[in-house]
Amino acid sequence: MSSMDNNVDNIDEKENKENVEGTTKDSSDNDEYEKVCAICRRTESRAGKMIAMPGNMNVCPDCMQKSFDAINSSNINYDDMFKNMGGDLGSFMFGDLGNMNNEIPKKQKLKKKKSDEPKKPLIDMKDMPAPHQIKAMLDEYVVGQEYAKKALSVAVYNHYKRIAAGTTGEVEIEKSNVLMIGPTGSGKTYLVQMLAKILKVPLAITDATSLTEAGYIGDDVESVVSKLLAAADNDVDKAEQGIIFIDEIDKIAKKKETRSRDVSGESVQQGLLKLLEGSEIEVPVGATSKNAMVPLATVNTKNILFICGGAFPELDNIIKERLNEQSTIGFIGELKDKYDDDPNIFRHVQSEDLRNFGMIPEFLGRLPIVLSLEGLTKEMLVKIMKEPKNAILKQYVKLLAMDEVELRFAPEALEMIAEKAMERKTGARALRSILEEYMLDIMYEIPKDSNIGSVTITKEYIDKTGAPLIGLRGYDVPQLNG
Ligand code: ADP
Repeated sequence: MSSMDNNVDNIDEKENKENVEGTTKDSSDNDEYEKVCAICRRTESRAGKMIAMPGNMNVCPDCMQKSFDAINSSNINYDDMFKNMGGDLGSFMFGDLGNMNNEIPKKQKLKKKKSDEPKKPLIDMKDMPAPHQIKAMLDEYVVGQEYAKKALSVAVYNHYKRIAAGTTGEVEIEKSNVLMIGPTGSGKTYLVQMLAKILKVPLAITDATSLTEAGYIGDDVESVVSKLLAAADNDVDKAEQGIIFIDEIDKIAKKKETRSRDVSGESVQQGLLKLLEGSEIEVPVGATSKNAMVPLATVNTKNILFICGGAFPELDNIIKERLNEQSTIGFIGELKDKYDDDPNIFRHVQSEDLRNFGMIPEFLGRLPIVLSLEGLTKEMLVKIMKEPKNAILKQYVKLLAMDEVELRFAPEALEMIAEKAMERKTGARALRSILEEYMLDIMYEIPKDSNIGSVTITKEYIDKTGAPLIGLRGYDVPQLNG
């Protein structure tokens, strides 16, 4: 049985116990649980006294009335409809639920609150690597981005220290969510993935573009917590100390033209506020949407580290404009276009630039750590191809080594690949697809001939003016320091 099933079973078991207790002692105040309407999902305290239905379902008076109204005013043949569902109208409304019983959870109740006893931190401070150790581990995978790696290492270290410290003592350490700004393909997602791997905490990666205000087509903001719960194998305690990475955060900037309601921009920023700050969110267990059939769990986002990332196109112009303005006003006679060609212009970002871009101040206030990533240079792209622990070239070398063929790359060939990748303007993401184009023929042809002992990818092969250098077994090929 999978761990998810296990979890659902545990919840059912707990709820069954509650059910039995509920019949002996009167529910309401002392009960840890509150009844929930099976249709609108409101709790008893909000929707009014529940009407108990067969199969441990509860329906609020509003929904009950609406059901009757709908039946009276429509021509739908409910008898047929319910027969198709395995029951009939009479039994659905008043009696035994027939076959449907199997599908209905044992009890439609929602946990009111969790016990207040402190939870064990996922990472013990004794085992928590220090910031320089975290950075050293990141160095093995991520090329360049020194500033981002350093700042992120400190941010996560402090975050988990804060969890370990709990709320004891006078000084309560504030939560420090992170905003990462950097061109596409510069390693934002990759950095977070590696970080979660190093720290062994659950990670959910979501895209802000799919989020909309609750009630509109799209995912509502709470779905991000649901993804984290799934990543933590539905273990609420684990999820509550995980990391959520929200990519493309620049896409939820306030829309400039505001004739209609901004359901995918400003409203999403508003919706995210309570998550970033820390609040109790009701999320479905083992499903992505809330409905009557799935059990719910309450996840507290207080200790979840939120990292938001985005490319923020045009933000560089906003920063440049501000900096140029400042330098013309100031006494220091700086050149007016001093910042125009600055490749690391994002390093100068300030909160006011992000506000001008369309992020609301409350949202920015909840992301106190802002880091920028550099655009990748040709040299960095070459390093990305060959240096990280799981570098793409190492992967090809390993693949061909299984055929007992040695694969080498001429340095000029790698530079040419990096240039081609830069033209595509998708950062390091372009490297794999370009390499894949060239490696396809090699991987297809080489295993045909068992005499081939080595292959060297040359500059000529990349610019399509020549072929790769092939060395036969037993003969040495000219050495190219690739
Ligand atoms: P984005 O900044 O758009 O989130 P990604 O992190 O998804 O970019 O980068 C895409 C891929 O490029 C990653 O999976 C990784 O393999 C590679 N990559 C990008 N930047 C780096 C880097 N600095 N070091 C090593 N690999 C990188």
